[in-house]
Amino acid sequence: LASREVKEERTIINVKGVTIGGRELAVIAGPCAVESKEQLMEAAYSARQAGARLLRGGAFKPRTSPYSFQGMEEKGLELLAQTAQETNMVTVSEVIDEESLQMSLDYIDVLQIGTRNMQNFRLLKAAGKSGKPILLKRGHSATVEEWLMAAEYVMSEGNQQVILCERGIRTFETATRNTLDLSAVPLIKGLSHLPVVVDPSHATGKRDLVAPMSLAAVAAGADGLLVEMHPDPARALCDGPQSLNPREFSELMERMRPVAAAM
Ligand code: PEP
Ligand code: MN
Repeated sequence: LASREVKEERTIINVKGVTIGGRELAVIAGPCAVESKEQLMEAAYSARQAGARLLRGGAFKPRTSPYSFQGMEEKGLELLAQTAQETNMVTVSEVIDEESLQMSLDYIDVLQIGTRNMQNFRLLKAAGKSGKPILLKRGHSATVEEWLMAAEYVMSEGNQQVILCERGIRTFETATRNTLDLSAVPLIKGLSHLPVVVDPSHATGKRDLVAPMSLAAVAAGADGLLVEMHPDPARALCDGPQSLNPREFSELMERMRPVAAAM
C-alpha cells in the first residue's frame, strides 16, 4: 500500500487546511516536552510567527531513564489543544501505547509514533484504526524496508495518512547523537508515494547542526521538517542541547525559504 507501484500519485495529507506532502514545506516546531502553559504558549507564538503551522510537544515521553521527566500526560494534551487553537496551529504529539493513543484522540491532530515504537505492531495497528494522520519515525536501527513495512501495518488497517520521518540511525559514530541518513529521503520518494519529513534535532543532538541539516534536508527533497524549539533551551526539561531558541528558529525559517522555493 505504501509503494509507488500501487499508487503513482503522491499522497498529500490535509490536516485542518495544513498540507503535508504538497508544494508548501510542512514545518513542525515546538519543545521536546510540554512543560507548562507559559512555555508552550511562548514556543507556539514564536513558531507560528516564523511561519510554522504545526506545533509539536511531547505529553508522554519515552525516556531512556525511568528517572527522567516522563511528561505531563493528559494535562499536556489539553495544553497542546488549547494553545493550537489560540495560535491557529495543528498539533503533533507522541503516543507510546494504546492507552496514550486513546487519550490523545480528543486533543491531537497528528499522532506521532517514536523511534522506539516503530516496530510495536499492536500500536501500529491501533494507529491504523485511529483515523488520524500518523507521523511514523524511523526506528533507530531500522532499515528502509523495515520502516516501510511498519507504515504498511498502519495502512493495512485502513489508514492511508502516514508521514514518514527520518530522525537518524545508530552507527559507530558517537560525535553526533545519531547519524542522519539523508539519502533515505530521495530513496523513499522513489519507492513510496508517502510524504517524508526530516528531524535534524534528534538526528544530530546538537543545536549548531540543526540549521545546516535542515537546509540539506530540504535540498534533498524532504516534504517537511520537525525541529525542536524551546523559549529557554538552557532550562528545558528534555533535549535542551539540541533545541533552538525562537530567534535561531526564525533565522532558520528565513534561510530555508529560498531553498524550498528552488525545489
Ligand atoms: C521526539 O520527537 O520527541 C522523540 C522522542 O523522537 P524520537 O522518537 O525520534 O527519539
Ligand atoms: Mn526530544
